Amino acid sequence: MRNVKPFLCFSKRWTPLRWLNKPRYCSNPSTAAVSSGKNRKALSDSFRSQIASGPSFQDFIRGGSVNLSADEHTEERSYLSEELQMVGNSRKVYFETYGCQMNVNDTEIAWSILMKKGYQRTADLKQVLLTAVIMFYREKAEQTIWNRLQQLTAMKKKRLKSKSPMKIGILGCMAERLKMELLEREKLVDVLAGPDAYRDLPRLLAIADGGQQASNVLLSLEETYADVMPVQHGAQGYSAFVSIMRGCDNMCSYCIVPFTRGRERSRPVRSILEEVQMLSDQGVKEVTLLGQNVNSYRDTSEQQFCGPELTKLSRGFDTVYRTKQGGLRFSDLLDQVSRIDPDMRIRFTSPHPKDFPDEVLQLIAERQNICKQIHLPAQSGSNQVLKAMRRGYTREAYLDLVDNIKRIIPDVSLSSDFISGFCGETEEDHQQTLSLIREVGYNVGFLFAYSMRKKTHAFHRLQDDVAPQVKQRRLEECICVFREEAAKVNAAIVGSTQLVLVEGESKRSSVDLCGRTDGNMKVIFPKEDVAVQSSASITAPICPGDYVLVKILSASSQSLRGRALGHGSLRKNTDALP
Ligand code: SF4
Repeated sequence: MRNVKPFLCFSKRWTPLRWLNKPRYCSNPSTAAVSSGKNRKALSDSFRSQIASGPSFQDFIRGGSVNLSADEHTEERSYLSEELQMVGNSRKVYFETYGCQMNVNDTEIAWSILMKKGYQRTADLKQVLLTAVIMFYREKAEQTIWNRLQQLTAMKKKRLKSKSPMKIGILGCMAERLKMELLEREKLVDVLAGPDAYRDLPRLLAIADGGQQASNVLLSLEETYADVMPVQHGAQGYSAFVSIMRGCDNMCSYCIVPFTRGRERSRPVRSILEEVQMLSDQGVKEVTLLGQNVNSYRDTSEQQFCGPELTKLSRGFDTVYRTKQGGLRFSDLLDQVSRIDPDMRIRFTSPHPKDFPDEVLQLIAERQNICKQIHLPAQSGSNQVLKAMRRGYTREAYLDLVDNIKRIIPDVSLSSDFISGFCGETEEDHQQTLSLIREVGYNVGFLFAYSMRKKTHAFHRLQDDVAPQVKQRRLEECICVFREEAAKVNAAIVGSTQLVLVEGESKRSSVDLCGRTDGNMKVIFPKEDVAVQSSASITAPICPGDYVLVKILSASSQSLRGRALGHGSLRKNTDALP
């Protein structure tokens, strides 16, 4: 078990618990009960009196000693009442998640931790009794979140005098950045937990039960939640996300992730394989490996992985940090994960272009259940802008990588991210971005106008000097070119037969189904019974989670339309596809 992170203390209202270690307040969870209002008041009074008296000087000396005996190490001394335990006691917790897939995955980790402590999850805010409303934060959703917090606070005030007061919490990577505003100035939240502090949630909620604000936003060099199995997956139950690494060492000049999610660390391969095996046993058909720089995965948890070999990069690419050494790399992980279930699709996101050595590409080409789809965030097509962004590559190196990928994986689908109007971007730079989009031919893109973030290298060193209307116009031009190129790429697969993993009914029509190709393109096709694999004369309905062979009949820049030919299987049909 890893150490529980210490609290941070920001004001007199905060609980000074820096010296507490987990066993000291968790001696007997089974006896904990904070259920009735009377009970709660007694506990709350007891809690306050214990906090007021605090630990003795000896306790600090003991905590700081490096020469403790084994007995002293295991001593369990409760500073909090035994009754004030970190157990849920069937209280309801409600989650709202904003932001990217990492945040969704983090919600599942946080929920797994709380569930083990006896909390229950509810989808109905009205049912929330005494517990936290927890949200993950992303800057893009900032105003939305502030508005939502105001609504929740109004709801909380109404329930203050009831037997079931509500607590509000914020979890995730923006907790650290906004801690002062959230806790002190606006006084909107009771619990604040950074991305490396979810194990601490039961304790934070116990403190909040005692009527105090509680926060832990410290970043860790090692937390990967390797032993926490997320408990909820894709809404339809056939696809799941598996977190394999956290944090990022790249320090792109526009990005706040290294400051909010911390340094790069990888989850041990063994725990990833266990989770993927468990998902396969549950019938999950598609797993997406997740990480901020997912293909920089490097498991150093076992001695035998840590040889002297230097980390290989894509040709022509560089890093802002010293080359790393040893560790089980992404190609090793991908190899082992893809062997677990040949009928399970493997995807990964989000990679950095620097981490595509040939062995990764060759594995993707060879292994039929690793999707031939690569997200290759370019951000800009201009060398001047790429340098200012500190991306570690040139336009030429990026295009060489694209050629190499297309040579090794001829049927690959490429997607990308672009930022319009970064600091110092000229019209000429913008034109180079447009030409790069044309030259590569992506089928999916995520395009944004630049918005400066505090704490980043760009915030301290660069000028956000492109006017908002210019950024917007350049963004629209990028989107326009992107769509034109995506339409051409998608048109090229009209007439082919694609193996599609069915997601469910189309949102637009109940007579159509929707699914994804290996290249992650959305396909719409009529809902009808089709031939089963073993016999062309026997038909069966198509259900979510089925693989079906779909003949592609038309395409737009964003989706494909087709007709199902029959049930399929990743194992049996891939080789037969044209
Ligand atoms: S690689 Fe991605 S997550 Fe890491 S600093 Fe750059 S943009 Fe941010």
